[in-house]
Amino acid sequence: TEGELGFSSTESEEESGKAQNDVYDIIISGGGMVGTAMACSLGFDPNLQSKKILLLEAGPKKEMDKAPEVYSTRVSSISPGSATLLSGLGAWDHIINLRCKSYQKMQVWDACSDALITFDKENLQDEMAYVVENDVIVAALTKQLQTLSEQVEVHYRTRVVKYTWPRPYQVSDSIPWVKVTLASGQTLHTKLLIGADGPNSMVRKEAGIPTVKWNYDQSAVVAVLHLSEPTENNVAWQRFLPKGPIAMLPLSDTESSLVWSTSHQHAEELLQMDEESFVDAINSAFWSNENQSDLIEAAGSLFRTALSVLMPNGTSTRQLPPSVAGIGPKSRVMFPLGMGHASEYIRHRVALIGDAAHRVHPLAGQGANLGFGDVACLTQVLSQAAFNGKDLGAMQHLLEYETERQRHNLPMMAAIDLMKRLYSTNAAPMVLLRTLGLQATNALPPLKVRHFCHVCIFIPCSFVNHMCSTA
Ligand SMILES: Cc1cc2nc3c(=O)[nH]c(=O)nc-3n(C[C@H](O)[C@H](O)[C@H](O)COP(=O)(O)OP(=O)(O)OC[C@H]3O[C@@H](n4cnc5c(N)ncnc54)[C@H](O)[C@@H]3O)c2cc1C
Repeated sequence: TEGELGFSSTESEEESGKAQNDVYDIIISGGGMVGTAMACSLGFDPNLQSKKILLLEAGPKKEMDKAPEVYSTRVSSISPGSATLLSGLGAWDHIINLRCKSYQKMQVWDACSDALITFDKENLQDEMAYVVENDVIVAALTKQLQTLSEQVEVHYRTRVVKYTWPRPYQVSDSIPWVKVTLASGQTLHTKLLIGADGPNSMVRKEAGIPTVKWNYDQSAVVAVLHLSEPTENNVAWQRFLPKGPIAMLPLSDTESSLVWSTSHQHAEELLQMDEESFVDAINSAFWSNENQSDLIEAAGSLFRTALSVLMPNGTSTRQLPPSVAGIGPKSRVMFPLGMGHASEYIRHRVALIGDAAHRVHPLAGQGANLGFGDVACLTQVLSQAAFNGKDLGAMQHLLEYETERQRHNLPMMAAIDLMKRLYSTNAAPMVLLRTLGLQATNALPPLKVRHFCHVCIFIPCSFVNHMCSTA
């Protein structure tokens, strides 16, 4: 059912409620990674089988029989919890068949000191995470959606241009459902609208939901990197430079994905450079010690010696990241970075998920993972409501979704923002503070075992209610 909707109805018919065909139980606006996962998740839920569900996506359908020859620049580090969710939706097998790379180790270190933290399989039972191209995730979910055509209608190249909200109480001249107006002029109605339309969410704006947001003084430069020689390439590398973190995530034995967050001006310069200078800049960003000072180095070394006496098995050796020899053709792209959080995730007959509800800095690789967590939680809440014969758009159970997800997402977002600020300076007291903190955490293996995503290095999982192995 690709393309615009195949029916039309006049305004008067709709307003008088005669056109029952266009009333859906759930409309999901936005079919990115999170919205498509939501559609699949609702479609597979046994309690929602009789419900009329529609996914609307402005862009084209993303299908993939086999992975394209060149890697996409847009990739995500997917947590084992998100992989479990995608597996439950039947999409993980397609992802494995298309393309994905797991990593078992991670090294995070500071460019202003010798402090580092490493995690490897000795500390962990399973894979640490998987690097998957965003298009591969969407294509895998799209393939699963095709098996759900009885349960979920999908319309691509279909942009919503207006939402009209019902009153929370029934009055004679009010419409009972959310009215969704498409660019073609067609109108639809839904008992529940799920906004999955990304960081500039029109659903959020038109619902008048207040949002706390700011732009960071950084842009991310992403690129596909060709390594100098084939390696096992099972380590995710992240180094905190004074202008922002640079990360290299494995794609294959010979290729990795770059996410370099830096000042807007430096990002522009990186984009303008010829390939050779760009590659030199990446290698130097991972290898150079130009930002280190003797004082911090002496203090860090003293602390490390003391820790190694107290915990002989606690310190780990520094590994050197692979050197980069080239980049993928036309793979350099830049994204301005910001943070945003909707103070409410729900309103009467509306729920926000994914980047529409929360946008984070990519340094922790958590944006899409938080969105998949929303999907799991909202599905559970709606399934229970349907089982109990309740109105899906009612505030009562939507509030459960909001409470659970805000309790999870807010501390995580605060931790990511704190990390961004803590590492965006080379002022000696801050460098010393983070040097000692990172070394102490690294020396405490039990602490590390329980904390294995970039964010949890600093914030205990139990505090943020975030277990990396669950979505
Ligand atoms: C450089 C970078 C690196 C990142 N790395 C990671 C990582 O390693 N791990 C991780 O978990 N996250 C990562 N993220 C974050 C992740 O990319 C986002 O969190 C994720 O893409 C959000 O998905 P979404 O589906 O909520 O929104 P989007 O991807 O923005 O999708 C929104 C969809 O809604 C559609 N839409 C919008 N408006 C309308 C409309 N009016 N009508 C119909 N359709 C509409 C759009 O076409 C789009 O398809 C990274 C982000 C960046 C910038």
